[in-house]
Amino acid sequence: MFGVWSPGEDVAKLTYFGLYALQHRGQESAGIAVSDGTRIVVYKDMGLVAQVFDESVLTTLRGHVAVGHCRYSTSGASVWENAQPTFRSTSSGSLALGHNGNLINTLELAAMVDAAADRRGRAGTSDTDVLTALFADPRTSSVEESALAALPRVRGAFSLVFMDEQTLYAARDPQGFRPLVLGRLARGWVVASETAALDIIGAAFVREVEPGELIAIDERGVRSSTFAPARPRGCLFEYVYLARPDTTIAGRSVQATRVEVGRRLAAEHPAQADLVIPVPESGTPAAIGYAEASGIPYGQGLVKNSYVGRTFIQPSQTIRQRGIRLKLNPLRGVIAGKRVVVVDDSIVRGNTQRAIVAMLREAGAAQVHVRISSPPVSWPCFYGIDFATRAELIAGSLSVAEIRGSIGADSLGFISLDGLIEASTIPAANLCRACFDGDYPIPVAEAERGKHVLEGAGVSRTRP
Ligand code: SF4
Repeated sequence: MFGVWSPGEDVAKLTYFGLYALQHRGQESAGIAVSDGTRIVVYKDMGLVAQVFDESVLTTLRGHVAVGHCRYSTSGASVWENAQPTFRSTSSGSLALGHNGNLINTLELAAMVDAAADRRGRAGTSDTDVLTALFADPRTSSVEESALAALPRVRGAFSLVFMDEQTLYAARDPQGFRPLVLGRLARGWVVASETAALDIIGAAFVREVEPGELIAIDERGVRSSTFAPARPRGCLFEYVYLARPDTTIAGRSVQATRVEVGRRLAAEHPAQADLVIPVPESGTPAAIGYAEASGIPYGQGLVKNSYVGRTFIQPSQTIRQRGIRLKLNPLRGVIAGKRVVVVDDSIVRGNTQRAIVAMLREAGAAQVHVRISSPPVSWPCFYGIDFATRAELIAGSLSVAEIRGSIGADSLGFISLDGLIEASTIPAANLCRACFDGDYPIPVAEAERGKHVLEGAGVSRTRP
């Protein structure tokens, strides 16, 4: 997510480049809303930021305030109607909103919207759509008033950027599951999911949006309100995989954390080997740390095809059978005859690692030792990452020895949970690590555990 308030700047272009820096957080759809002070215009479509926007589209988006979003769906299908920013009329004008995270009381909130008899066309089917309807409460006189009334009742993970015709808003849930930062431009302000998006447009980092905080930005400057006391439980998985390595979270570089995890992994799970290689890109920093601490040479043994993101071209059956080769290809000359340590960030279902081990053996590796820079992912996430159900998670039912057998590696080692937490330098009590230990910071009712399929008239059900 990205938002900017900056009179005199081309806010649509700033938002485009901000989203471009945040593309790794969602590749299903992209959108930008812009206001010139009197009217909000939203442009969104399925696909990557660079597929959705071009110069001619951006030229039509004129104004001084903008919010942008690239979507990764957790609640609600990946369809145009659920692309963000969402848009809704309000008593005082209109509202556009982008959301990162996943709510865990969507059904309760949907009932509140229905109770307010606001059934005037719920456009999408996501938790974000329900949130937008709440913020557009026709009984209040402003978006700020609606948001301040609604936010204390919203539970789950939500970092939000939203706007009315004049004002940019940003809010973060009391746990601060997902990151959200405030930056300064010469002539305005920026909010973004990660600091890397500030860097790319030349904005200076000011501070994080605090857990439980709503900020409003307009010609009067930045106003801050606390809608709930902070109970910080930042997502530990941001350090493992989600965030860019050049991003800083809570004052700590993500790259530095990942390299340190690699060093600790080498101490916890040493290997007799000739070469350490990463699974690019997210395994790279930990592989560097592993090589550094173990003294085993580091090398590039797998080449990533960086442009395999979401494509509208469906692979043919012949191509599909090549599976992982669409994304990764081994360098035979580097691997052949070597005992290889291959470092990856996580194992979810196990299919990718099984394919990588087979590919490395095919390329002539004498031994394949798999090292993983996160503990086993044994529990589903309800706070914004759509891993899988517990039954689909390989570590949900298999021991480490059984996973090693299943993926066909000579040895397998995961960083310990304590090792990962220490590498993050964040106190354990301030982190969510539920996908690793099943200790959920806020309980999730059974009815809220599936993907919601919210229907137009407010009837709701879930599917597993
Ligand atoms: S369950 Fe895991 S992925 Fe989800 S917020 Fe917690 S640490 Fe992050």
